[in-house]
Amino acid sequence: MERILVSACLMGRKVRYDGAAKTSGDALLAAWRQQGRLIPFCPEVEGGLPVPRPAAEIEGGAGGEAVLSGAARVLTAEGADVTEAFLSGARAALAAARTHGVRVAILKEGSPSCGSLVIYDGAFEGGRVPGHGVTTALLERHGIAVFCEERVAEAAARLRELGDRHPGPT
Ligand code: SF4
Repeated sequence: MERILVSACLMGRKVRYDGAAKTSGDALLAAWRQQGRLIPFCPEVEGGLPVPRPAAEIEGGAGGEAVLSGAARVLTAEGADVTEAFLSGARAALAAARTHGVRVAILKEGSPSCGSLVIYDGAFEGGRVPGHGVTTALLERHGIAVFCEERVAEAAARLRELGDRHPGPT
């Protein structure tokens, strides 16, 4: 049975920057949780950041790949550089994924760590641009497929492709 790395905030853990959760009501995620296949993980907390913490964005909306290569930083609105914590959290997420043989992850959309389709543009005004968060970029670099919480059915399809016989309804 494939294990799945999941953003801890989607599992009801109050780990977001504002001290809240973003609990998912997805039925398939609930079923996987029952099966014991989910590994909740918060890269920012594991990277050493507190809860609550200042909101952070990748400068210029450059994307997680640029952060991994050293071409962009992750900054708070006040200009504090939290890049190293984001990188540390991403590395910890990859280590956890490898420990459990994870090949599929479901991560919270829009986050500078966990986003897989969009991230904030770095202006702290709510604007979003296409791009990956730092953890998503590192996981994908290492062959782990990342889906957001709106794409759980696609994650199930990927699990089926990987030979998992119990990923849920088609
Ligand atoms: Fe959720 Fe990811 Fe943000 Fe942690 S870093 S609060 S898991 S979106």
